[in-house]
Amino acid sequence: MNYAVDENGFYGEFGGAFVPEMLHSNIETLRSSYLDITGTPTFQNKFRSLLKDYVGRPSPLYFATRLSQAHGCQIYLKREDLNHTGSHKINNTIGQILLAKELGKTRIIAETGAGQHGVATATVCALMGLECVVHMGVVDIARQSPNVARMRMLGAKVIPSRSGSQTLKDATNEAIRDWISHPVETHYIIGSVVGPHPYPDMVARFQSVISEEMRWQLKEHTGRENPDAIVACVGGGSNAAGAFYHYLDQDEVRFVAVEAAGLGIDSGESAATSVLGTRGIIHGSRTLLMQTDDGQITEPYSISAGLDYPGIGPLHAHLLSTARAEAVSVTDQEALDAALRLTRLEGIIPALETAHAFSALDKIKFNETDVVVVSLSGRGDKDLDTYIKNLPIDE
Ligand SMILES: *Cc1c(COP(=O)(O)O)cnc(C)c1O
Repeated sequence: MNYAVDENGFYGEFGGAFVPEMLHSNIETLRSSYLDITGTPTFQNKFRSLLKDYVGRPSPLYFATRLSQAHGCQIYLKREDLNHTGSHKINNTIGQILLAKELGKTRIIAETGAGQHGVATATVCALMGLECVVHMGVVDIARQSPNVARMRMLGAKVIPSRSGSQTLKDATNEAIRDWISHPVETHYIIGSVVGPHPYPDMVARFQSVISEEMRWQLKEHTGRENPDAIVACVGGGSNAAGAFYHYLDQDEVRFVAVEAAGLGIDSGESAATSVLGTRGIIHGSRTLLMQTDDGQITEPYSISAGLDYPGIGPLHAHLLSTARAEAVSVTDQEALDAALRLTRLEGIIPALETAHAFSALDKIKFNETDVVVVSLSGRGDKDLDTYIKNLPIDE
């Protein structure tokens, strides 16, 4: 594979494992064992059977008739919104909890911004009976209270991060500190294709079930395995990595990575890393990130908490810098409009993150016969308050 990670954890110039001395042995254990453990038939059987009977996979690939007419191409929706807990995040947490058990870990930590990854982690900890601690910024705890309640009901302990801007990047720092203090019994479940090697590759492999299913589902629908394009929103990039994975070496399949422009690229309130980002190290990996001239991480902004991340995973930095993937950025307002359009045309309320991917369909010219798959990464229940406040839906 041309786009596979190399043995040092790099995708071209991006990736690697830049971690504090005290975490070397944890990261080294993961690096030297993740492929062996996840490659065994026993592990694969457990993983596959939970994806099927607990998550509800395969997720449908749905031909969206009215949306296709509106855009003048053939649009299929990969329905990750129908998974248990409402998004693709559970594919990864199922994989990592099984790995943690194989490694003999008894305590799980995670960090969360919007709370979606926290809920997916708390869910698999309840399923497996493992202790769960979720670090979350004080600001996010206040604005995502239903997800905080879900995590607590599932038995997780939610620890407020009070440092810095009290949002996701501060919660990540706290999670790393926690791991350093409890290295033996604890596994850290990272929720996207970010962080030090082997996390980006490990998470991409767990999420690759998305494109594995797309291949045979497209064949059933259209007679061929390859679409002309795949469109996915990118926060850290895990749903996009899963949707692209089995097509990475098929150059004729076009990849569109959709980022959150927030109030606009030049507004100072944005999360469009591919445009605003420069090379640097964030959370243990060399990638593109939004930073000041002296290397301070810039606070990102998007109406959707799941895209509000100041970096992108190293695989995506590589795909974009080699022009294998193209980036499109979408503002808050454009995403809101696209969410309402999908709802009215197809009867599906998408997550705000996912709505960004739908808006990108307006910005690209497709031919009538082009087959386009959109990764419908999550459902919009969690975003109803935002939709009600911002959309003309009273009439
Ligand atoms: C978390 C989340 C995202 C963004 O994360 P990626 O790792 O970029 O996929 C996108 N959509 C939904 C529904 C999410 O919950």
